[in-house]
Amino acid sequence: MKLIDGKKIQTDMIEELNEEVKGLKQVPKLVIIQIGDFGPSNKYVSQKKTVGEKIGIEVEHLRLYENNTEEEVLSKIDELNNDKNVHGIMVQLPLPEGFDEDKITNRVVSSKDVDGLTTENIGKLFDGKNAFTPCTALGVMELFKRYNIDLKGKHAVILGRSKLVGKPLIACLLNENATVTVCHSKTNDLSKITKKADILIVAIGKKYFVTKDMVKKGTVVIDVGINVEDGKIYGDVDFEDVKPKASYMTPVPNGVGRMTVISLMKNVIKAYKEQTK
Ligand code: NAP
Repeated sequence: MKLIDGKKIQTDMIEELNEEVKGLKQVPKLVIIQIGDFGPSNKYVSQKKTVGEKIGIEVEHLRLYENNTEEEVLSKIDELNNDKNVHGIMVQLPLPEGFDEDKITNRVVSSKDVDGLTTENIGKLFDGKNAFTPCTALGVMELFKRYNIDLKGKHAVILGRSKLVGKPLIACLLNENATVTVCHSKTNDLSKITKKADILIVAIGKKYFVTKDMVKKGTVVIDVGINVEDGKIYGDVDFEDVKPKASYMTPVPNGVGRMTVISLMKNVIKAYKEQTK
């Protein structure tokens, strides 16, 4: 089994993107809108600021509060949409109760939608057009590229159909000519399907859900899961159990988790280039 080293790829990409930014006329700018003070969101925003700084991207953290009205949030997004010095906008999720996630994320103009979550971007992605791919899915695709894992004609099975991970991966894999099956909590005979996978991507949020009896010999296993128990992080795949059967595998931590923030920065640079060309 060959280990897919997310940490190394992240380090390489920080260097590569930093070089790319040095060659740009202006510093690309990302604004992250956070509503409220949710602890995990504070942590994610600060990780984005740290990685952005390393690459040379300006990351502004714009904090709004639960007592701001939805109209105020929307008009702030309008202002950023029209600001030529802002190249990427993302809304840190989840939003506090009472805010319409769909309405707010869709207010971001698609050319600055670096999280790839607007209906327009999702439509373009499924249409095989130039789009911003949601960051975790983009990160998974980067892993395949960096390890020269050819997807053409392969049977890719995705466990999980979330808007952030499972669904965009359907489009990404189809665009690379894989044959795609998607499973979810209502799927019957799950192991029968997972055992047919050449590529198995797991994003369900259940510690050690995938075991060796669900995987055929030689499968590429990508574990997106992040499950925290007593301060420790576990994947959705029982790594030690599945390892003897996999051809390639991502560890948790230091696998896919390393790819999401760096992919966001890649999208910010893409947005900058498209807006300034
Ligand atoms: P989510 O929105 O909670 O969706 C979970 C999906 O898994 C749903 O489609 C659900 O099916 C499916 N599912 C749940 N139990 C299942 C079962 N027993 N069998 C088959 N399918 C099942 O989760 P998410 O946001 O995609 O996240 C999934 C995991 O990835 C979490 O651990 C999360 O922390 C992690 N994650 C990691 C990153 C990263 O950067 N590495 C980024 C995002 C998420 P239904 O649709 O039928 O409910």
